[in-house]
Amino acid sequence: HEQSETLGFQAEVKQLLHLMIHSLYSNKEIFLRELVSNASDACDKLRFEAIDNPDLFQGDTDLRIRVEYDKDARTVTISDNGIGMTRDEAIANLGTIARSGTKEFFSQLTGDKQKDAQLIGQFGVGFYSSFIVAQKVSVLSRRAGVAETDAILWESDGQGEFSISPVEKADRGTSVTLYLRDGEDDFLGGWKLREILRRYSDHISLPIQMHKEEWDAEKSEQVKKNEWETVNQANALWTRAKSEVTDEQYQEFYKHIAHDFDDPLAWTHNRVEGRSEYTQLLFIPKRAPMDLWDREGKRGVKLYVKRVFIMDDAEQLLPTYLRFVRGVIDSADLPLNVSREILQESRDVRVIREGSAKRILSLLEDMAENKPEQYTEFWTQFGQVLKEGTGEDTNNKERIAKLLRFASTQAEGSAQTVSLADYVSRMKEGQDKIYYVSADSFAAASNSPHLEIFRKKGLEVLLLSDRVDEWMLSYLREFDGKPLVSIAKGGLDLDTLADEEEKKHQAEVAETFKPLVERLQTALGEKVKEVRVTSRLVDSPACVVVDENELSPHLLRMLQAAGQ
Ligand code: ADP
Ligand code: MG
Repeated sequence: HEQSETLGFQAEVKQLLHLMIHSLYSNKEIFLRELVSNASDACDKLRFEAIDNPDLFQGDTDLRIRVEYDKDARTVTISDNGIGMTRDEAIANLGTIARSGTKEFFSQLTGDKQKDAQLIGQFGVGFYSSFIVAQKVSVLSRRAGVAETDAILWESDGQGEFSISPVEKADRGTSVTLYLRDGEDDFLGGWKLREILRRYSDHISLPIQMHKEEWDAEKSEQVKKNEWETVNQANALWTRAKSEVTDEQYQEFYKHIAHDFDDPLAWTHNRVEGRSEYTQLLFIPKRAPMDLWDREGKRGVKLYVKRVFIMDDAEQLLPTYLRFVRGVIDSADLPLNVSREILQESRDVRVIREGSAKRILSLLEDMAENKPEQYTEFWTQFGQVLKEGTGEDTNNKERIAKLLRFASTQAEGSAQTVSLADYVSRMKEGQDKIYYVSADSFAAASNSPHLEIFRKKGLEVLLLSDRVDEWMLSYLREFDGKPLVSIAKGGLDLDTLADEEEKKHQAEVAETFKPLVERLQTALGEKVKEVRVTSRLVDSPACVVVDENELSPHLLRMLQAAGQ
């Protein structure tokens, strides 16, 4: 048998623990939410593994979470009969941080309490939040399917090390005991704990149980009875009628499933009946996760089948450009033993994916129309990802195009606030195109010499500088019947917008400069395709443009950089 051992926390854990205790103190009761959330996840995992291996239940299928306190020992204990942890799992899960985005997180810390608290929240507080109120934490755990004698005891004071020892445990699952710090006696009461559980954990679909309590007149205090009672609603939140769920409950549910500390920006909750039957509860986070651009990062939603948890990050249930959406989809049609491979092929999944995309787009349309400030918040965080949808989701291309926002010569600074519909509504008499210029940066776009004539004529030009823009433009060629045209390309015909006098003047100019053009053409020879007189410049003497049908210089540079 393995012996008791003392191990050091990964350096990042030490740093996180220190920060957490200092910056999240004003929110200290969240430790209970985090531990209940982990207990619930552990039960979900057991239920899922038991689909293939029912023996794991060993006769105990009533999954539940229990919360107890002991006034004399000054402890609070949260236990579950979920999946449990082996020694190796405990060392990995409770001693290190193995999450994508970890490096970014630590590099963004500033030392400013308030800012860091927000970052920590975004990063996810989890198990380590126990140390906000506890001077010592012990975790007793037995993995489902292993012997009574193979349980483990993990203990730490949160300073830098933890110990792990082999122990016996009669039943499966995990029990986390917090030895409270001085001054945290508030948590040693049934009323207080119930109040926190109702506030933060009512959405948990498993029963959360506490000992019943009764008023003892003789002792003149509440006494615990040897009997459990369930203190939450204990049904899956998404199965409840919308009218029976409060905003706070939706928000807490979101925090649990998204492992986010912040409230969501918006959500949509629907039950779909018909050929396919499913319930969706989808959330848009307030902030982009650290790993939004990480291809290995978490994405997608949790999949349930008839209320049984099947998997996290079921990326097939949403198109990739909606990878920032979090939530739950509960299908009535899929088999319980569905695998990721089956999900890829399934017709039911395709129906769900299309339905979910439509719901999210409706949610965004509604936000753009009725809550423009909220939409700006959304756009700042996720606009670049949504742009990918113009190429990925051809069925919804028009809807996505309406949701796009751009910087423009008619708007303030670099903020992306102008919609294509705004642009069209401001088009000049006779203008039949939507003009844009694209560059590596906003500064380069807004200082482009190509803009001169447009500024002079008062024609609006969209200023594009996001990495995805060129890619997007190769799919989004028109809006509302009007082609999107780069002002950096040749043959730009502004003549329809010129008045008679201007046209006459231009013709004269072209005639006068014919000899010069011919000399330039000879001098430049093969280096250029054509030299022509243009009316597109105001202050600059000349500019280089590419042919209408050629790649733009910006896209060329991008492709070259990508080694193509
Ligand atoms: P997260 O829940 O976001 O993964 P936590 O810090 O809350 O992060 O938990 C870390 C990990 O520890 C979990 O992912 C899980 O593997 C393990 N864990 C925590 N609590 C339990 C528990 N009650 N039962 C089984 N595993 C647990
Ligand atoms: Mg957790």
